[in-house]
Amino acid sequence: MGPVKQFNNIPYGRQHITDEDIAAVAEVLRGPFLTQGPHIGAFETAFSNYIGCQYSIAVANGTAALHLCCMALGVTEGTRVITTPITFSASANCVRYCGGDVFFADIDPATALLDINAVRTLIEKHPKGYFSGIIPVDFAGYPVDMAAFRELADEHGLWLLEDSCHSPGGSFTDTKTIDHRCGDGSLADLAIFSYHPVKHIAAGEGGMITTNNEALYKHLLRLRTHGITNKPAEFTEPYPGEPERGGWYMELQELGYNYRLTDMQAALGNSQLTRVDAMLARRQQIAKRYDDAFAGTSVTTIIPPASVTHAYHLYVIQVADRKGLYDSLRTQNIMAQVHYIPVHLMPYYRQFGWKPGDFPNAEHYYARCLSLPMFPTLTDDEQTFVIDSVLAYCQ
Ligand SMILES: *Cc1c(COP(=O)(O)O)cnc(C)c1O
Repeated sequence: MGPVKQFNNIPYGRQHITDEDIAAVAEVLRGPFLTQGPHIGAFETAFSNYIGCQYSIAVANGTAALHLCCMALGVTEGTRVITTPITFSASANCVRYCGGDVFFADIDPATALLDINAVRTLIEKHPKGYFSGIIPVDFAGYPVDMAAFRELADEHGLWLLEDSCHSPGGSFTDTKTIDHRCGDGSLADLAIFSYHPVKHIAAGEGGMITTNNEALYKHLLRLRTHGITNKPAEFTEPYPGEPERGGWYMELQELGYNYRLTDMQAALGNSQLTRVDAMLARRQQIAKRYDDAFAGTSVTTIIPPASVTHAYHLYVIQVADRKGLYDSLRTQNIMAQVHYIPVHLMPYYRQFGWKPGDFPNAEHYYARCLSLPMFPTLTDDEQTFVIDSVLAYCQ
């Protein structure tokens, strides 16, 4: 007999909107600015303070953030970039938007993160200058050892773009005992975050780019708004006979996009940011309870070492009969999910020659992984029900 208590749908992730959040959005709607008003700058500053970076650039969504980063890093036709197959496809697609070529390297089964040794092997198989950059992903909220990747990248003249969509608030201590928060600008050249409702901070849609690199920051500001600048210091020389320039003057200097965030979204994101520490603490508490419940059972979990602060966007278990468990949980309204189908096996990427068997660790992981409900408002009763249901099926 499995557990009998029934709950409404328990999703794998869910946003939490408070009355304060709603008031913050309503206030914007009553004011003069709906897009690019004062809440954008306020959100960017508050996020920089939270993450510990120098610059933040708010954009329309996490995918737009990745796209702009690839543009700013100079990805163009033929540029070769390495990422992980176990991620949301946007981590790879951004390279394709710019005409670049995506290369994958396998994951480390101990962390499910991009395996730096596999990346090194891949790089060393090719002539110097063959690759331009690496996009490591803090998958599930487990911070990549970006210090090690920085060293490898510097050795080979590569840039690093950290996809931190899963890891706001995550951090790790490097071998010199220095603490690095994900996206803090100390190691990766650029990092990106998403404010999709299922992520830590919900803004409806939304994204953020973080960096300590002033040149990249200025370039990204321009790319976010069509490639237009209205800053006189950035203007080109007037051409002979040009009508005198007035206050209206601006220049389209390169082809950018409209990837701006609205002021409503920034107000919502900023309001959520005030609770982010408490929400992260709750995620970690839920993870600890899952860890304890599954210890010594047939359910495999990934528990990070003490040097790592996991941000737990996802709580992923690995089981032999994943399909059976998924179906069983669905019949009990537990909406577990699979993260991720390996990107290299997607039909779109298969056309470039990637095929089953290319990345055995990623494919083995995909065959067994299942994300259990993980969000701050998950109740203890709901979590007990999830744990009991999983163990009832797996034992
Ligand atoms: C959510 C997500 C993205 C894309 O973010 P959007 O805001 O949905 O565009 C990119 N990478 C990863 C790893 C994500 O989880």
